[in-house]
Amino acid sequence: MPELMGIVLEQGAATRQLLHEIEIQRPTSRYNRDLLVFLGNLCEILNKEIAKASAQVVADSASQAALRRLVIMCSSALCEVHRLCQYFDHTDNLSVCVPMMQLLNKLGKDIGQGKPFILRGDFEYTYSYYPLGRDLHRLAKSISSEAVPISEHFACFAFPIAKKGYTLPNCALVHELGHLIVDANDLIGVAVNKKPDLSGKIDDILKSRAAAGDQLDFDIIKRTNQASRVLENWMHEVLADLIGMHLLGPAHLFAFMHFIGHIGVYQRDDPEHPCSAYRMKLMLKAARVLGWESTLQETPMAWQEAQRIAQLPRESGDFRFDAADQCLPIIEPALFELAGETCRSATYKPKVFASGKDQMLSLLSHGIPPVEVLVSRQGKRKFRVSAPVTILNVGWFCYESSFPGWDQKFPKLTTIERGQVLDRLIIKAMEISFVKSAESKARTRRH
Ligand SMILES: [Zn+2]
Repeated sequence: MPELMGIVLEQGAATRQLLHEIEIQRPTSRYNRDLLVFLGNLCEILNKEIAKASAQVVADSASQAALRRLVIMCSSALCEVHRLCQYFDHTDNLSVCVPMMQLLNKLGKDIGQGKPFILRGDFEYTYSYYPLGRDLHRLAKSISSEAVPISEHFACFAFPIAKKGYTLPNCALVHELGHLIVDANDLIGVAVNKKPDLSGKIDDILKSRAAAGDQLDFDIIKRTNQASRVLENWMHEVLADLIGMHLLGPAHLFAFMHFIGHIGVYQRDDPEHPCSAYRMKLMLKAARVLGWESTLQETPMAWQEAQRIAQLPRESGDFRFDAADQCLPIIEPALFELAGETCRSATYKPKVFASGKDQMLSLLSHGIPPVEVLVSRQGKRKFRVSAPVTILNVGWFCYESSFPGWDQKFPKLTTIERGQVLDRLIIKAMEISFVKSAESKARTRRH
């Protein structure tokens, strides 16, 4: 025990030193400063607990086992603090391009979230959501009841570092934002309350499998819990996909297709995600409900590919996946309803896209960032600034329709090069759109 205590005391001192070094670098963003304050406080709490435990080791040898547990817990919490400190090392060059960050902030704010989050490049080709505020709160609470100055909805999103300078593939980040929205509103709890008979249904499915001779030594209660956990994870995924479809429209679906084009289609379920075919089917259903179906049919190749993926057979998995697969359709209507209610004020509409699409596609084909379109209002013609979400959708539309009109302006560029030029134009357009909207807000305030 004294040896263990020595190691943990050293670990505590090293963490304090590491945080001090990060402090000297003075993180520029508010989110990073909040995270640093939180980690500093957590580290101090842990060090205090370890010092208290260290004094007790000498005074009372009877409580050694309890102390040991406490010290081990503090040690693993310090490891977590260390892990998060690594984030500060490359914070500036591992984050996504600014307009994408602005868009995510805007979407978060539009549906009343406005929660802080950090974006972080990942060397693997993956997108992920890590609810670090929630996890750290739990950790801090289990050690000490002292208040922690960080939002429980402080989350970290990762995106593939290979796509750092791009906007179109990173539309997949809106799915990750969807996860944050699900957690911040406890949508899983709300959905389960809407269908309280779900766990009974899982019981029935498992019992009938047991009766049919499948593993007769069934421990139903344990297995019901495992299957419920998988079902809840899948509900999280479904809600994040539906929120993505609401906030971004077709761009969300295209980004999903692009992503699985890179990593391959999942025909197998996993404990976190249902298979790709199910997710695609669901997104196509959302597209129909939200009025996007005819728009999607204007890009026939992507449309056919989406249908193909949606119809891929699901490979049968273990009892947890089979039970969750049978239960998902029961809860699906409630999930559609919840996503609709949550995104009501920010759902992107097909008519907004249709009103500027052709002009914007034409601007792109001339190498011009598609920011403004000419509209007639009350007999007068004037320029209207396009919203960032419209710009992204037009970008995807251009890509999925094989760059209409580009042969004249860019005859020598390969498809990959055209993709890069397209993304540069989209970034520029989003930047200008954000500037113009800030300008017009400032002007309205002045009047
Ligand atoms: Zn997800």
